[in-house]
Amino acid sequence: MKIGFIGLGNMGAPMAKNLAAAGHEVTGYDVAAPAPEGVSMAASAAEAAAGQEVVITMLPNGEILRSVAAEVIPAMEKGAVLLDCSTVDVESARAVADEAGKAGLMAVDAPVSGGVGGAEAGTLTFMAGGPREAFEKVEPLFEVMGQKAVHCGDAGAGQAAKICNNMILGVTMIATCEAFALADKLGLDRQKMYDVVSTSSGYSWVMNAYTPAPGIGARSPADNDYKPGFAAELMLKDLRLSQQAAEAVDADTPMGHSAMELYESFVEREGGKGMDFSAMLPRFEKRHRKG
Ligand code: NAD
Repeated sequence: MKIGFIGLGNMGAPMAKNLAAAGHEVTGYDVAAPAPEGVSMAASAAEAAAGQEVVITMLPNGEILRSVAAEVIPAMEKGAVLLDCSTVDVESARAVADEAGKAGLMAVDAPVSGGVGGAEAGTLTFMAGGPREAFEKVEPLFEVMGQKAVHCGDAGAGQAAKICNNMILGVTMIATCEAFALADKLGLDRQKMYDVVSTSSGYSWVMNAYTPAPGIGARSPADNDYKPGFAAELMLKDLRLSQQAAEAVDADTPMGHSAMELYESFVEREGGKGMDFSAMLPRFEKRHRKG
């Protein structure tokens, strides 16, 4: 396929490289990043998008997505697909899909889970929203960049699935870390705690596959000085998106809100920036009941 790829950062670069390696003709554009292997670069987003069957965006946030979309939509040919893989607010995803629809294009929002490692290995999971016809057209590209793609519903459904999943993840990480810190103070051995919880009703992906305690359970960023992995500031971004969405639809999400506040404090005031999101455990270790 002829593909335009806009936003060639930590995630976009390996995704574009994998598409080129699979034989697709990829034209890229980024305001700062260099060309990934196999990708030819255009001088602007509009130039990268012109004449392509699919234009993929992998950008930092909804505001930037909206401005890039305003530039590329008029340059794209009718019937082409605008495929946004960034994590953005549901409202921006729907607004971009509306604009694309008015111009005779199809839009798919397909945020990913799997991080930079998944992008490099081509093992991302895509959660997609948009017309089924458009989903089916880009499915072969999901197969190159990832190992699983779920069509979640109409425009915005991919972003909705992503922020709900990551709200559960953030809350579960905090609950698991505070339980480890409590166990420490109760004199319970961490390995014993893991042996019990990982096979009891407190088990979770966090406990079993991403154990936040060094040397216990699954190998994870905890075993590498809490280097990310999935950075705490990216978790904060996703928790903020979940609360923005909850606000917009009047949903009561007290645990998601508390998780957002804890990650905010961790990232902005307690040295958590640049650390994996599981570094909540050493944070709790240092604390007392009142601060
Ligand atoms: P990044 O900051 O490394 O990459 C973003 C790229 O977009 C940069 O190269 C930047 O120069 C470029 N850019 C910014 N404005 C632009 C514009 N107007 N036109 C063209 N290019 C522009 O970020 P990333 O880690 O690659 O993340 C991209 C998206 O993927 C984000 O929405 C993020 O939330 C999501 N995501 C990231 C991870 C992860 O582990 N890094 C995991 C899942 C989802």
